[in-house]
Amino acid sequence: MRVVVGHLYPDYLNIYADRGNMAVLAGRAAWRGIELEIRPIGMGDPLRPGEHDLLYVGGGQDREQALVAPDLAARADALEEALAGGAAALAVCGGYQLFGRFYRDRAGVELPGAGVFDLETIAGERRMIGDVLLECELEPGARRTLAGFENHAGRTILGPDAEPLGRVVAGYGNDGASGYEGVRSGRALGTYLHGPLLPRNPWLADLLLSWAVAHATGEEPVPLEPLADELERAAHAVAAARARARGGRPA
Ligand code: GLN
Repeated sequence: MRVVVGHLYPDYLNIYADRGNMAVLAGRAAWRGIELEIRPIGMGDPLRPGEHDLLYVGGGQDREQALVAPDLAARADALEEALAGGAAALAVCGGYQLFGRFYRDRAGVELPGAGVFDLETIAGERRMIGDVLLECELEPGARRTLAGFENHAGRTILGPDAEPLGRVVAGYGNDGASGYEGVRSGRALGTYLHGPLLPRNPWLADLLLSWAVAHATGEEPVPLEPLADELERAAHAVAAARARARGGRPA
């Protein structure tokens, strides 16, 4: 079984160890005998819908976002087609913002987005920094928590058709006011959570992998065999306790 991951702009959008998410996906796939191939997608590289089972993009400073935004916006149709075809996606922070319609940066410059998520982001004066804890229900009846770290000036406003990724238990989330964080659109997820996200949230790594395997096989997603995640669960517990103790508080 082989899964192909398209990693968008690994040289530009990769802060707060976001590249670590790739290592977690590769490791958790290998422990189940699944071969995971990561194909970087740089500026001007082709993105052929159907080629990738999972698309990933990390975070970045306004400067890096400005460099990649026109190239990413030009891929709107290909991304839309890939996601409509059932590919999974994870977009983190700066990448999450640019998967929306636009990101207006701190200088007031509007960076075009790919528009695959129904949302817009406008940078505010004060950065929203700290540990975050969310409550999510990505599978009916399965309430879980996500723990991570956020550092963003952007305030993200979800459109009427957009579903948040989770409810903020501790932290600022999308805008420090709505009480929600991230976005979920089918198998495509966007979030402000860095850290990187996946090492301390193995359930989300496995869910994304199960969606990618489903895309590769053309079958319905099935849960992957469980792994002994003592270390991961301990890391989650520490991050969750830190967020509860000092995460930001919505206004
Ligand atoms: N530059 C964007 C902001 O400040 C995204 C930051 C990030 O990816 N951490 O909101």
